[in-house]
Amino acid sequence: MTEQSPALDNLLTESRTFPPSETFSAQANATADFYAEADADREAFWAKQAERLHWDTKWSQVLDWTNAPFAKWFVGGKLNVAYNCVDRHVADGHGEQVAIHWVGEPGDNRDITYAQLKDEVSKAANAFESLGITSGDRVAIQMPMVPEAIFAMLACARIGAVHSVVFGGFSPTALRSRVDDQAAKIVITTDGQYRRGKAAPMKVNVDEALEGAESVEKVIVVRRTGDEVPITEGRDLWWHELVDGQSAEHAPQAFDSEHPLFILYTSGTTGKPKGILHTSGGYLTQAAYTHHNVFDHKAGEDVYWCTADIGWITGHTYIVYGPLANRTTQVVYEGTPNTPHEGRHWEIVQQHKVSIYYTAPTLIRTFMKWGNEIPQKYDLSSLRVLGSVGEPINPEAWIWYRENVGANSAPIVDTWWQTETGAIMISPLPGVTATKPGSAQKALPGISAKVVDDQGVEVGKGGGGYLVLDKPWPGMLRGIWGDEERFRETYWSRFADQGYYFAGDGAKYDADGDIWLLGRVDDVMNVSGHRISTTEVESALVSHPTVAEAAVVGATDPTTGQGIVAFVILRGNAVDGGEEAVQELRDHVAKEIGPIAKPRQILVVQELPKTRSGKIMRRLLRDVAENRQVGDVTTLADSSVMDLISSGLKSGK
Ligand code: ATP
Ligand code: MG
Repeated sequence: MTEQSPALDNLLTESRTFPPSETFSAQANATADFYAEADADREAFWAKQAERLHWDTKWSQVLDWTNAPFAKWFVGGKLNVAYNCVDRHVADGHGEQVAIHWVGEPGDNRDITYAQLKDEVSKAANAFESLGITSGDRVAIQMPMVPEAIFAMLACARIGAVHSVVFGGFSPTALRSRVDDQAAKIVITTDGQYRRGKAAPMKVNVDEALEGAESVEKVIVVRRTGDEVPITEGRDLWWHELVDGQSAEHAPQAFDSEHPLFILYTSGTTGKPKGILHTSGGYLTQAAYTHHNVFDHKAGEDVYWCTADIGWITGHTYIVYGPLANRTTQVVYEGTPNTPHEGRHWEIVQQHKVSIYYTAPTLIRTFMKWGNEIPQKYDLSSLRVLGSVGEPINPEAWIWYRENVGANSAPIVDTWWQTETGAIMISPLPGVTATKPGSAQKALPGISAKVVDDQGVEVGKGGGGYLVLDKPWPGMLRGIWGDEERFRETYWSRFADQGYYFAGDGAKYDADGDIWLLGRVDDVMNVSGHRISTTEVESALVSHPTVAEAAVVGATDPTTGQGIVAFVILRGNAVDGGEEAVQELRDHVAKEIGPIAKPRQILVVQELPKTRSGKIMRRLLRDVAENRQVGDVTTLADSSVMDLISSGLKSGK
């Protein structure tokens, strides 16, 4: 059946595997029997994970799914999320442990212990309450990666206010639409932010965004760059004037397990961003469970670093909630990876003896482009677990990561998840799984995922189709803010008969039944009746020694339906991409995965359009490939990239 109507052709083969060392496995948090334990009784398994947290009132029921697709986890339970992330570690005698090694871009540093974190969060909570913020109120946060951003998030959680973090680089229009959508009462920002060694304004953008914004009562401004900013009397308050003088005592109140914790807008790769709603008990349970097991984190021993921005879900779950719930000592870095030099990350790893490092494929490919000699200059021997998130990681980038960063020994965990899932869903377990470059492999214990065809029937080994989540999970979204219809339509209508959550990603099983993610269903190409994933063609291109990055789209073609158009960035040491080089790349793809996938056209470019979370925006490249007006670019990290690509193409070929 899958042979007659494949939802996705399965082209790329990758057979390298890397089992964990015996020494790693022997000390690992997660063991192979977790899978069987979770399969035997999923709810009991999750109840056990929830015991990692401090509950003021224990739940009476693990899961209530009677009102699907609106789940309730740990029904009747009450807890305070901030207490779990901060106070209880101090109460347990770990107040002197460093929670955050903060590294500012210009070279300033700040170490914050759990005891200090407790004081800062308590003061901010008192300050917010003094402004009349109460449980359920929305607070928008647009800040760079400064400690106050984390204090602000935790202070909201502490008083039951709902935070919504917006990327520091977003335009006034993008901020305004998010503020209006949730009717935020307070906005927290900074005077400015450091970006690539320069101070850039922030507050003036916020002012522009908030002109006439009716819901906003106060704007709180953290001083970071020291640049002068306009202050609106009666509305604007300096953080240091408001917060610093507050009492460091604040009694955390317990909230219902289903109390809203935050709203976060998706990155908008496929269209208008959605305000994803997450709640407390289930979310924190899965955040802590996954952080502990997927990264094999040991409290008080490891130094962990997740390079995401807090404006992205990864920053929420794997900088703030998961790690702090697990009493992590972590690095938080404010700036860009090449400021002031391309070895900045490795310098930080060396200095702080980072042992767990979690980043995105886009950055790994950038490191490849910069050259192997850069990481080689630093002592990276402290690293013992490496993670990847955000996009499928191309096998060659995976191998580069393992060899150049992980000394050929640190397990790599390729973690698939989404803003909507709240936490990691599909990933190897570092002490258990023999990893495969490019595959996220297996749903975690307690999680269930399937690859299905158009009809919702599971495909067999070697088959491709749509990724679905067929059972509810604790960290799942509880809706799209203010838009129940869009929630049902986007995620639950495609496989309504089966009641599956439709992730929107293409995937396949390999011969062992492991899952490979193949990019967005929206991006799948149809060439002469073959459904080809962008990821596979991109990975084939990246496996050529001259290519650092590739983005592939399907453009309308009179004979084949769609033709494959590739945009490639060459590696630092590669000569420029003349006719011959391009022909060689086309042949290389044909050789790697078959003639059907040979790109019709390959364009050498300097940059690719990416979101702030580092994802390639293929819909914009499709516009270029089909000579259309380029669509919405508001969530691009750098909107000038599209002009560069379009003009380069016009003048070039
Ligand atoms: P929008 O939904 O608005 O288009 P988005 O999907 O880019 O935005 P996120 O929730 O940040 O916003 O991204 C989730 C998506 O990222 C997944 O659906 C998947 O396509 C991709 N992704 C994340 N991690 C991985 C991974 N390890 N392997 C493959 N794809 C991944
Ligand atoms: Mg999405």
